[in-house]
Amino acid sequence: MKIKAIETFILSDKLQNSFFFSQWVYDERKICVVKITTDTGLTGWGEGYGPAEVIKAGIKMLKPLLIGKDPVSQETLWFEMYRKTLDFARRGILTAAISAIDVALWDIKGKAMNLPVSVLMGGQHRKRVMPYATGLYFSESANLSEKLALEAQEYVAQGFKAIKMKVGFTIKEDVKFVKAVRVAIGDDVQLMVDANHAYSLREATELCKLLEPYNIGWFEEPISPEFYNQYCELRSKSSIPIAGGECEYLRYGFHHLLKNNCVDILQVDICGAGGLTEAKRIAGLASTFGIEIIPHVWGTGIAFHAALHFIANLEPIPGRLFPPDFFIEYDRTENGIRESLTCPAIKMKNGFIDIPQLPGLGIEINEEALYRYSEKVLT
Ligand SMILES: [Mg+2]
Repeated sequence: MKIKAIETFILSDKLQNSFFFSQWVYDERKICVVKITTDTGLTGWGEGYGPAEVIKAGIKMLKPLLIGKDPVSQETLWFEMYRKTLDFARRGILTAAISAIDVALWDIKGKAMNLPVSVLMGGQHRKRVMPYATGLYFSESANLSEKLALEAQEYVAQGFKAIKMKVGFTIKEDVKFVKAVRVAIGDDVQLMVDANHAYSLREATELCKLLEPYNIGWFEEPISPEFYNQYCELRSKSSIPIAGGECEYLRYGFHHLLKNNCVDILQVDICGAGGLTEAKRIAGLASTFGIEIIPHVWGTGIAFHAALHFIANLEPIPGRLFPPDFFIEYDRTENGIRESLTCPAIKMKNGFIDIPQLPGLGIEINEEALYRYSEKVLT
């Protein structure tokens, strides 16, 4: 079997209601999706996390390395792509281009061998995962506390047992919003906060202290991903677990987070950090430090399914007779592409999502949605 064609699609969706977080405003969703076709007619799909046009250019640059090659040998192809980009992209967007291609190659490999990706990765430690709702962004509102509280209650009504909200507004406002959400959802639902690296070490330390009464599951990206030592210092001072890693790349980058004792929870983005091939290596590395992984997931059903398979294959640290439920991040902000690009639709039952058992990633692409959202870019 040989790779015959590699196509990229930039999908975009203008949002009905823009929202913002500590760094910038979202008024559209845009994503680069890749389709790889073999000479036997099999197709695999992947996507990259980050600026879509740049990822598209990266995939175009990598394409000559792949055409005519055997897609099943995805590890050797990964290495050739890595070698090609090493001098220019030890962190960043070309790694996302590699990631998109790698996920598509795993999808093809699964279909070729008639096995789910998680089985191909070595097996399924679990058959279901617990989604946590990512939402509770900032928006223009006369009473944002109340708006956030109502949104959080909706997630609980939908069956979510855990919710992640944004912080990074101002420390005073953050505490007010967290309190409102905690009161609204009660004590039985887990609540996490994410600052998207809005704060200095001093500010983050202060916020940790002020949030202690609200039983926070983890504090995500409190400070800049550049400051490994500050993460370590904050972690030593905070009773709230510290999470990070969505801005980190490759096993080499994650090694910095691990060896510097930066985080309690490592948040690798499969579609950014190097694909499933590299994510599995990062998981192996994290296991030597005894650090758990809860991947960062943002984008379409392709990224979500890649994460489902990866999490199914994650080794529990430590093992025990009655293991805990494993989380998957489930973005609930407005995104028409996520809702319609892949089928079957993502379904939550009693607060859990089943690991797909179909070959490859276990999804079909809705071509009508693919072209509908692609066309919007052209107009
Ligand atoms: Mg985050």
